[in-house]
Parts: sequence; C-alpha cells; structure tokens
Amino acid sequence: MIKGIKTSKTKDLDQEKDRIIGAYENGNEGPLLFVSAGIHGNEPSGVTALKKVFETLEREKPKISGKVIGVYGNRTALEKGVRYIDEDLNRTWTKKNVESQEKDTNEKREMFAIIEILHKHSASRFAKRYFLDCHTTSSASLPYISVQEVGDNDAWAHRFPVYIIRGFSDIVFGCIDHYLSRIGVTGFVFEGGQHDSKNAIVYHEGMIWLALAEACGLDLKKLSEFPKAVEKLSEQKENQKTFEIIHRHSLEDDDQFKMQPGYENFQSINKGEFLATHNGEKILSTWDACIFMPLYQAQGNDGFFVVEEIEGK
Ligand SMILES: [Zn+2]
Repeated sequence: MIKGIKTSKTKDLDQEKDRIIGAYENGNEGPLLFVSAGIHGNEPSGVTALKKVFETLEREKPKISGKVIGVYGNRTALEKGVRYIDEDLNRTWTKKNVESQEKDTNEKREMFAIIEILHKHSASRFAKRYFLDCHTTSSASLPYISVQEVGDNDAWAHRFPVYIIRGFSDIVFGCIDHYLSRIGVTGFVFEGGQHDSKNAIVYHEGMIWLALAEACGLDLKKLSEFPKAVEKLSEQKENQKTFEIIHRHSLEDDDQFKMQPGYENFQSINKGEFLATHNGEKILSTWDACIFMPLYQAQGNDGFFVVEEIEGK
C-alpha cells in the first residue's frame, strides 16, 4: 500500500502495525505488560508517554522478563482530537458487545482490533498478564489509580505510590478494564491529571516505568539516567490514600448542568456547599467528603462523584 493512501477505514483499523505504539522484549520468559492509551481520543498524553518509554527502551535495550506492548485506544478519535466518533470506547466492552462480534460503530471496530492483539498475546504464552490503561481528566487532578476489586487488582494497585479509587468501575459499565479483569488480566486504570497538562505526560511516563519495574523486573537504576518521571511520580508517595465512591450525580442526555468553577479532583467539600446547577436547581452537598471527577466538558453523563477516604488501607 502506498503511504498516505488508505483503502478503507475499517481495513485500516484492523492493521496491527498501525495499532501498536511499541513492543519490547529480550526473548526472556515472563509476564506481559499491556499498556493502552487514548481509549478516549481527547486524552493523548498516555500515547506521548509510551512513545518516550519505547524510544528509551529501543536505545538502551535494558534487560526485562516477558514483554511490554503499548497500543493506541481509539485511533480514529485520536487522529481527530475528539473524545469519540460514534460512542464512548470506554463503554463498549460489555459481554454482550464482545460476544456479538458486531462492528457497527467506529468504536466497536476499534475494540475488536485491540481484542485481536490481546488474542495474539494469550495467557498461555506468559507467566502472568498485567494491564495499565492510561487516561486523563477534564478537571485538574493529582494522578490516581482507579481499580476494580477483581482478582488481585487491588493488591497490585497498592504497589504504586498514588491515590487509589475503588468502585468506580463497578458503577460504570463497558470499560476496557472491566473486560481485561474479566479475562484474567491484572491491572488498573491510571489517570495522569488534566487532559492537556504537561504533568499528565510525566505522570504517565513515570507509571509506565514503575509498572515495567514491578511487572517485568526492569532495573530502573541500570538505565543510563534514572527516569525523572519516576522521581516526580514517587513524590506522590506521601499522598497514597485509598478512597471509595459514596455518591454519583448522574445526568440525562439533554440536562443542563453546570459545575461551580474551580473544583479539583479530591478537593474537600462540606455539607451545604453549593456544588453545581442542574436543570436550574442548585445542588448542595449533603456530605463532608471529597469531590471526584467534576464535569467541566460538554460530553458526559456524570456531573460529579463524591468519594470518602478508607482508613487503614
Ligand atoms: Zn478517559
């Protein structure tokens, strides 16, 4: 095929080489680390971070066990810089959709192209399989992990130095991490910060390096320069806390919703605090807790969440 000429979009999406950002191994047995980035097309920072990591791996050829692979999520949406084309790619991974094999939307085609790669990296080929799904948020945020409490996901998540949210995946259906957990891959979603913040790229890079060290035994000290991104992410260590979702403020498609300005993820809120306006009504907090994922973009069905710290873990 001549470069720049595409025969058809569907065919193009199926091309494995265009899906893979990078892959690295030394031929040693061991685990698989599967990193996905840009499942939401308006969240490219994980893609940038993966490119940086693979550049270093290719240049320095450090020793690892097993294999790391980085893949584009919603490739078409990434190219256009939009969150999605037909539907949210982080809501398509239901059992029903996967079993149906139906490719009637752009996102389902993207989903099956990713599944194809997972099939080629089956459980039988690796000692264990891990995943890391890279995202960013619409509001300013500290980096954090969102973990579904399935298998050993939660214990794995607690090996990393950032805030951990439990239970988000349980109230939202069809996420890629649901699917991966369902097929026995251990991992979590990592949110690196606000969509276009430079820190988000750094935090993603740091998390990918740490996951490589934890999963594939990469000795970071043996790289010609210890990754600055890891140092930066490790500064979060004192922030390691675990939170649980206690409330979801959901929206219907045509609702008018406006969050009060200035809320950051994990910001404390108090009872009686004016949080948002929903269809002309003031929403006041009934909690002394923390705000989570306040909505500051046009698309989305969740106005905000309320989370509470879990003591002792
Ligand atoms: Zn996302």
